[in-house]
Amino acid sequence: MSESGNNYREPRPARVAAVLSLILDKWRRDPTALLQILREAQEALDWIPPAAVEQLAQALSLPRSKIEGVAGFYSFLYTRPQGRYRVLFADNIIERMQGSAALMERMCRSLWVEAGKVSEDGLVSVGTTSCIGMGDQGPALLVNNRVIPRLDEARIDQLCELIRGEVPLADWPAELFVVADNVRRGDILLDAGLQPGDALKAVRDRIQPTGLDASNSRSWREGLPQGLAGPAVVIDELRRSGLRGRGGAGFSTALKWDACRNAPVPVGGCRVVVCNADEGEPGTFKDRVLLNSHADLVFEGMTVAAMAVGARRGFLYLRGEYRHLLETLEAVLVRRREAGLLGEGILGIAGADFDIEIHLGAGAYVCGEESALIESLEGKRGTPRNRPPFPVTNGYLDQPTVVDNVETFACSALIAQRGGDWFAAIGTEKSTGTKLLSISGDVAAPGVYEFPFGVTIGEVLLACGASGTQAVQVGGPSGTCVNVAEFGRRIAFEDVPSAGAFMVFDATRDMFEVARNFTHFFAHESCGFCTPCRVGTSLLKNLMDKLANGHGSPYDFAEIEHMNHILQQMSHCGLGHSACNPVLDTIARFRPAYERRLSNAAFEPAFDLDRALAPARQMTGRDDEGAHLPVHFEEAQP
Ligand code: SF4
Repeated sequence: MSESGNNYREPRPARVAAVLSLILDKWRRDPTALLQILREAQEALDWIPPAAVEQLAQALSLPRSKIEGVAGFYSFLYTRPQGRYRVLFADNIIERMQGSAALMERMCRSLWVEAGKVSEDGLVSVGTTSCIGMGDQGPALLVNNRVIPRLDEARIDQLCELIRGEVPLADWPAELFVVADNVRRGDILLDAGLQPGDALKAVRDRIQPTGLDASNSRSWREGLPQGLAGPAVVIDELRRSGLRGRGGAGFSTALKWDACRNAPVPVGGCRVVVCNADEGEPGTFKDRVLLNSHADLVFEGMTVAAMAVGARRGFLYLRGEYRHLLETLEAVLVRRREAGLLGEGILGIAGADFDIEIHLGAGAYVCGEESALIESLEGKRGTPRNRPPFPVTNGYLDQPTVVDNVETFACSALIAQRGGDWFAAIGTEKSTGTKLLSISGDVAAPGVYEFPFGVTIGEVLLACGASGTQAVQVGGPSGTCVNVAEFGRRIAFEDVPSAGAFMVFDATRDMFEVARNFTHFFAHESCGFCTPCRVGTSLLKNLMDKLANGHGSPYDFAEIEHMNHILQQMSHCGLGHSACNPVLDTIARFRPAYERRLSNAAFEPAFDLDRALAPARQMTGRDDEGAHLPVHFEEAQP
């Protein structure tokens, strides 16, 4: 019997050793691959038993505490036994609207398991997780990290049958796992039709004019002699395009690549290119589609970046929720190596050496922050670093590193092939090109839409068949909430920026509950590194729960403002800075939804002390006036 009280037995040390031996060999016994090793160990063993921690500590010469610390950081890694079938329902607001809570309850009832617990026989555990990038085809769940979308009662019953019958996941009907792209509108990116290698050949032709011998590898990496075109022309092209990072911050991609190219490389090191595919912002899923159906474009963009900055090593950091894409992506990498588009001497150019490794995350939203992502790539807890120094000079293993979003790399490939001026002519002056939007919620056709920057929110709503819309959350919980009066605003860095999420709420939705869901998300995802965020996000969640429970007062609005001030001023990273955004936005635009919940003009504590004393009154047989607290706090003052 295991320590959790269910019938799950710990695997024998010999079995653990056999499993770990293969995984350690695969990852070259490299401690910086610790997260990948732990993840794969769990895939084989269902959890990370103490014997695995012990053996990994010896094999990697790491203290046990470090391994336990890393395993404890990621919500998809378990150091206690879970069910052999580990079911996690997506708990994003959109899935809630689609009825996920009732479906989870149905599954729990059917399998005799309590939500958040493991069944008595150790067969199954059922719980929730944040958004898993399926807002266009929810409700959805993960079972042992495999996605099952489009849940309804019949599908839940089918899953329960399979679990009760202990059918191995590999034998479940394939149609359960089918994830649709749902591309509703394409433009220059989704309709690009680039063939693998097109952009790289264009780069080669630009930097290696006919007749120029580019066989000197030093010249390739360090820039060709003065007077001849070098890889810097790629960056010039990018500068002309005006491309800004699609991850949300909108930083100039050319400036970033240029800074990396000019940063000194430590002895024995190299420059690094990292694709941030940790698409964790609730409501966004467009990177899932790019990776599933346009992976060549993304890898091509990464390789263009490597040529421009002189990088030899590349990583795609894929969010754990997108584990289902891993084999497809690995196959694309193999094909590109065989075609001479990755590896040594790309396109036959001596010194143009670059390859890409895929690392998977394990359920930590904060790893979407670039410095936290690099920590995670190095096999550590995903805690954001102090900046400066920035990754472009001191990134992965202290080497100059470019970190860009999936969509940014796809755009870079297009620009390399078609030119910066062509790209700059699309969109607005300050936001060039197009933007992919992940549209979900109260619309007729949820999915991925590509629009030129500058499109209005109203135009987007029209395109996706929204009606009776009262609000749109643009850019996810940390983005902006807009109401009807603002539907003329434009999707652009200079107006309403968006990393991709576009969640639509019609007039039947309670915007207070939307904001409350987001505060739960931030409290859950705070990495706990800094106190203002760890405590502040939790207090914010409690304040919203207090309002929801009918104990709110205007005093709580002031408290939320105060909390926002602290989080803005004192948080270490963007999660803390933006945690109050959804609440402040909805208070400003949908105040009646909050005021409905105010029970009192004066402060009312969230905790009802008088009610809590009821058992004591019952035990003493008293229920007279003296056994109760005064009705209001102020009445008790002298
Ligand atoms: Fe972690 Fe929050 Fe601090 Fe960011 S602000 S480092 S998420 S605790």
